[in-house]
Amino acid sequence: KSETVDALVNLAKRRGLVYPSSEIYGGLRSAWDYGPLGVELKSNIKRQWWRAMVQQREDVVGLDSSVILARQVWEASGHVEAFVDPLTECMSCHKRFRSDHLLEAFQERHGRVPVEGLAEIPCPNCGAKRSFTESRMFNALLRTYIGPVQDESGLTYLRPETAQGIFINFLNVQQSSRKKVPFGIGQVGKSFRNEITPGNFIFRTREFEQMEMEFFCVPGTDEDWHQHWIDTRLEWYLDLGINRDHLRLYEHPQDKLAHYAKRTVDIEYRYNFTGLEWGELEGIANRTDYDLKTHAEHSGADLSFFDQESGNRYIPYVVEPAAGVDRAMLTFLLDAYTVDEAPNNKGKLEKRTYLRLDPRLAPVKAAVLPLSRNSELSPRARELAQRLRARWNVEFDDAGAIGRRYRRQDEIGTPFCITVDFDTLEDESVTVRERDSMSQVRVSLDKVETYLIERLPG
Ligand code: ATP
Repeated sequence: KSETVDALVNLAKRRGLVYPSSEIYGGLRSAWDYGPLGVELKSNIKRQWWRAMVQQREDVVGLDSSVILARQVWEASGHVEAFVDPLTECMSCHKRFRSDHLLEAFQERHGRVPVEGLAEIPCPNCGAKRSFTESRMFNALLRTYIGPVQDESGLTYLRPETAQGIFINFLNVQQSSRKKVPFGIGQVGKSFRNEITPGNFIFRTREFEQMEMEFFCVPGTDEDWHQHWIDTRLEWYLDLGINRDHLRLYEHPQDKLAHYAKRTVDIEYRYNFTGLEWGELEGIANRTDYDLKTHAEHSGADLSFFDQESGNRYIPYVVEPAAGVDRAMLTFLLDAYTVDEAPNNKGKLEKRTYLRLDPRLAPVKAAVLPLSRNSELSPRARELAQRLRARWNVEFDDAGAIGRRYRRQDEIGTPFCITVDFDTLEDESVTVRERDSMSQVRVSLDKVETYLIERLPG
């Protein structure tokens, strides 16, 4: 499957989904830019999440908070203190590692702790012996300075998660939207982490997007809500076409839980990268009242909720499904990537690569293709494409052989190709070809919208 990843990275660049960032300057390692089709796919993923998690629920509302928040937010949340990892560097190949990961791997392999610590462990990258530096604590928060002078007084951090922007707005949102607990606040936006080992394409980068929802509930109901959100989130991926066999739930052991969590369950996907078979796709945590409590203590604001019906005042518990947009995109792409054989126009079997993306996610919903570039066919096709653009992202393409154009659309996961041919000029109909089955039907020109509306859910 690592081959699949390489093929996908190649396809992504060639077709305009994802490019290596700053490429003309030699590239910025492990940063990626999203091309014309990538930005569509990403925004479709976000739209589906927003619909399912915010718009289609009476008990959830949305928010878009700042990336740069008051420094105290990160002191209160524990990130300044807890977002640190012990790091070591191999003096031979200069690769950096989490020292605790090296020690754990050693212990797992040998069934004992290394008596000499890191000195006993050869570098997993270059094999050098006794090559590790002393372990040092490294803070994964990205720093920046606001204001005219670059000194400690202006020191702030780019948010490493969108969640804190939600907690500090709990009162604002609760009061202005007149929501009663239980209710949730959803947010989609960029987060930044100075990751030690970014890589595996867009799986781990230093700048990425998250889709997070904080669900505030009555203490004591948190465990049921937690289970509800685990089930709901798993169902979301299945509904959008991810193969169930490629997903599993991972329960974090109690002694490895993050400082704020009572229980965390990850939805994992089988990425099959070298060194990473299963990886976290989304984390669903029971954060208890940790965040509201700590912000109440640090800010002095009263972040409790008064339940008028029961007459109780309490600090709500929080359940958080936290997903990554980029990681979800990688997952949808990997799961959709299909290579099989199909007959070409001479009836000979040929390799066919296509993305079996759910139509709701497909970057281009339909392509209008004149059979050949022709002064009668091309304008008719262009006109149809323009008409369909009122509803969907539609491509027009008249360059090259029709077979090649079908293959291009298959590779980017376009669910429907609509061909305008010489019969069209006679019968006012077009041929609609479906991506997965490659079946073709004749549809009257004035029925094309209806045909697509029935097959392209919003
Ligand atoms: P990991 O263990 O992979 O570092 P995490 O447990 O730190 O992830 P969370 O804090 O739970 O991640 O973040 C929620 C989601 O945000 C993750 O499930 C993932 O989809 C996404 N995410 C987190 N860090 C990154 C990153 N560096 N690059 C891309 N996506 C990320």
